Amino acid sequence: MAFSSLGLSKALLRAVADLGYASPTPIQSQAIPAVLDGRDLLAAAQTGTGKTAAFTLPLLQHLLDGTENHDRLEPGRPPRALVLVPTRELAVQVGENVRAYGRHTPMRAATVFGGVGMQPQIVALRQGVDILIATPGRLLDLVGKRRVNLAKIGFLVLDEADRMLDMGFIPDLRRILGLLPKARQSLMFSATFSKEIYGLATGFLNNPMDIEVAPRNAPAESVSQSVYHVSQQSKQALLARLLRSEPWGQTLVFTRTKHGANRLAEQLDRDGFQVAVIHGNKSQAERTHALAAFKQDRVQVLVATDIAARGIDIQELPHVVNFELPNVPADYVHRIGRTGRAGSTGEAVSLVSREEAPQLRDIERLLGRKLPALPSPEGYMPQTVGNPSSQKARLVWQSTPRRGSTTPRRRII
Ligand code: AMP
Repeated sequence: MAFSSLGLSKALLRAVADLGYASPTPIQSQAIPAVLDGRDLLAAAQTGTGKTAAFTLPLLQHLLDGTENHDRLEPGRPPRALVLVPTRELAVQVGENVRAYGRHTPMRAATVFGGVGMQPQIVALRQGVDILIATPGRLLDLVGKRRVNLAKIGFLVLDEADRMLDMGFIPDLRRILGLLPKARQSLMFSATFSKEIYGLATGFLNNPMDIEVAPRNAPAESVSQSVYHVSQQSKQALLARLLRSEPWGQTLVFTRTKHGANRLAEQLDRDGFQVAVIHGNKSQAERTHALAAFKQDRVQVLVATDIAARGIDIQELPHVVNFELPNVPADYVHRIGRTGRAGSTGEAVSLVSREEAPQLRDIERLLGRKLPALPSPEGYMPQTVGNPSSQKARLVWQSTPRRGSTTPRRRII
């Protein structure tokens, strides 16, 4: 299928061609005609499937169709489309996408999110906006200060709805839904589906078309996934070893806690790696800086917690390492959604300690299959300590010296 057969205008097709997209991704070829047709949408799609263009392109088309004379887009006009996202990073990213896809149109986008000054956002809104991308909290703050008018919203997108739920945004969302005109087209995207997500969807979608690009709750086929069984104490040494020996290039490493992210980043830094770290305690400026350094290839390893990394779009990122497994199995799918995107292949490796056996079991249940365990890398021998049949037996990694090395035999437990 070609982009030109989807019903998009020349200005949008030009933008797609500028970006070098050869053909629509599966979610784009399904969603774009349906949204152009005016249908509500409930889409199961994770980051990396091309979902942002799947909603942005038809949205821009609707706005173009509803604009009688492009030259007469009034300054100060209220937004006609609202995209709600859970995190600042995703807001920035969706904003960048909307600008890229709309570059040959007169449509304007504004992005509003918390953690930064409100004034520049107020100025942008005052200048006139067609598409507003917002996190729920900041949007409600702006509504409270009467700085944004939602009366003309005809299109609503709820992106990463499962994450909104996890982050406790549902009451905010319901308040925002109550402020929007009833006559509107609504689209909802979620990587994973639960009873609560369906509950939310039935509350505000009208006879939605159901689109699923990957099996529900399953990561992209193009990501190879495996685990190393390793003791918690040996994980850092194994990771450093893998980063040196494997041809991974840039690697995104997930930890469960902010403290754990800092500690790992410091250790990797001491080991001589170029490392950046992002988590919820970092300021917006620090996060932006770290992400830019990673995207520009100035750092090899980005250590991140789940929430901080949410929705980060890193093109052609082949490697994700789960230094610790997430407690919520769906987060595993989100994490590895950052690799193997839009047709490229990726690899996700998890370092799993004995204590994490329950999380691994839950993840494998969600995926519907077992994750293969990789053999120990050269020089590291997994060993069973104590009585192998005993419950207390544990796996450790033992390094063996390279030939000719004077390094004493080192044992990491
Ligand atoms: P998303 O799922 O929206 O986060 O998009 C994932 C990545 O795929 C982004 O970097 C997009 O630029 C890229 N992308 C989106 N649509 C296409 C397409 N039709 N062909 C190639 N790459 C695409």
